Amino acid sequence: MKTTPDILLINSYAPRQRVVSDAALENSLVILRTYLEYKGIHAEIVDDQRVTALEKGVPQWCLRLLKTMTRLLMKFYRVKPLAAGMLVAAWPLQAYALQCRREYLRNRRRQIAADVQARQIPIVGLKLWYGEAYTWGRELAAEIRQYSPETIIIAGGPQVKVYGDIVLSHTDFDLAIMGPGEEILEKLITLRRQTPSKSIFLQQVHAQWGGPLLKTGGFAGDHTEVVRGLAAQTIPNYYAADLDGKILFHTIVDGVGCSWNNCNFCSHTRCTVPFTPRPVEDIITEIKAMLQRGISFFRFSSSETPMVHGREIAEAILTHGLNIRFSMFVRAANVSAETLATYRLLIQAGLRAVFMGGETGHDGVNREIMNKGIERKDIINTIVTIRLASDAVRLPCRVGLSLIYPCPLPPGISMEEVFQANVTLIDEALPDTVIVNPPGPFPETNWYKDAAKFGFKFSEGAATFTQRFMEYEYSIYKPVEFWDDLGSSLNDMESKTVLKETGKLRAYVASLGIPTDISDEYLMMTEAIGLQSKLDLVRFKQKTLLDIISGSTDYTREITASINAASRRLARTYTR
Ligand code: SF4
Repeated sequence: MKTTPDILLINSYAPRQRVVSDAALENSLVILRTYLEYKGIHAEIVDDQRVTALEKGVPQWCLRLLKTMTRLLMKFYRVKPLAAGMLVAAWPLQAYALQCRREYLRNRRRQIAADVQARQIPIVGLKLWYGEAYTWGRELAAEIRQYSPETIIIAGGPQVKVYGDIVLSHTDFDLAIMGPGEEILEKLITLRRQTPSKSIFLQQVHAQWGGPLLKTGGFAGDHTEVVRGLAAQTIPNYYAADLDGKILFHTIVDGVGCSWNNCNFCSHTRCTVPFTPRPVEDIITEIKAMLQRGISFFRFSSSETPMVHGREIAEAILTHGLNIRFSMFVRAANVSAETLATYRLLIQAGLRAVFMGGETGHDGVNREIMNKGIERKDIINTIVTIRLASDAVRLPCRVGLSLIYPCPLPPGISMEEVFQANVTLIDEALPDTVIVNPPGPFPETNWYKDAAKFGFKFSEGAATFTQRFMEYEYSIYKPVEFWDDLGSSLNDMESKTVLKETGKLRAYVASLGIPTDISDEYLMMTEAIGLQSKLDLVRFKQKTLLDIISGSTDYTREITASINAASRRLARTYTR
């Protein structure tokens, strides 16, 4: 007989695969479960986001046919009339596959809601992602509310960190946690046990925390609390079932926040506490625990890992003789001999890829629009420094450069000038991949608060735009004609034109033979399985694209098997 958990933790997900790393290990839900179990609380996880589950609900004949048509489409996409004809021919099949997936996800929602009802689970925690995954989470909450009105539904995860209390409007979430959830969930579960009904419980929560949005950690602005939280950071205890159908790639908490924390567009600035490091010895303990489970690929979680902290971690990894591979977010900087020495150490310790937010190659735009606190020469010099460090230690380290284009413009600067500045930046820096993002005015950022000044307009008001933005399924693989209008404009360009302009820069990057939009963790893991040349990366990109567009997982499963074998191989070299 099944027992009733105190809390059911659920990962939300979209009907279609979006990026190949969708199925990375679910560290945050496992951290919650580990912490709560340690406190004597029974927590269970529902996480369907697995490589092996992405095809479920769609008939195999449909996937095979879609794959063949997509392959042909990718082969002939330059022959415009032919490509357009193929696109039209494939469209009913795409729509049918999507309908099958949506039906499958609807059934999963019903199963989960029925389970919550049958076992009378008192609290459900939903990890929310953007776009259709958010919609799925919202609809699941509605279904749970319908059949189990006494169950408390708590939202958390990336979507809450970006949108805050907006996720609570027009939804069935009772509460939202913005920030780390371990301690606050423990308190809420304890309080629920002591209160006779949901309404009394919610009254008490609102009285104690000032409303349904519960800010914690850096989002509550309490630096001391962040330091204490990081010193007590839970190491996730992955069970065998947590690893099943997953890529053995673990996001490790190395600290919280970013040392600059001032960019006008950045939603991370809602965490108001600037970068705070986690004690290095604890990071090492966690790495060792993961190695014992066969996990050797890591990404540091901080919005930016400052060089000083990175250096200390690298020294500790080398001292302990840990054979791992990792990637991290870095900021471009005014480089020095010390920067070079630090990158050398980091690469020796296993750094194989960095993600760098450059945003634009135009200094005026960077200064007045982005407030990035860096200049174009810093971006180029930092990339050159990483290349020099890599050559010096004869180990690779790939660089992913992210740009925002198009963007708001300072007076007297045209979009064409910004485009050209981006083009020459890419030409000079030659990163291994470029991630081109359209501009997004996220809540509470300066771009949002001062939208008119930055040239953003919302035809139906900011609130309606934000609601739509939360559920917007931005897919770079869809022709612009099929994108929905967002109800926003930038410099009088309507949203589809904005996305078209983004595509223009992406096309330029591709024309150089540089693959676009490969995440840093994949830059790192593909290197480890022997995909080392530029051509290998381009092929990797094409094959993953084929999977993502067609809905098949043939290549994703193949690549996951290779990565996991490499992870276990590396981990075996670890001796306690
Ligand atoms: S964009 Fe990067 S550097 Fe700027 S505030 Fe955000 S995390 Fe920090």
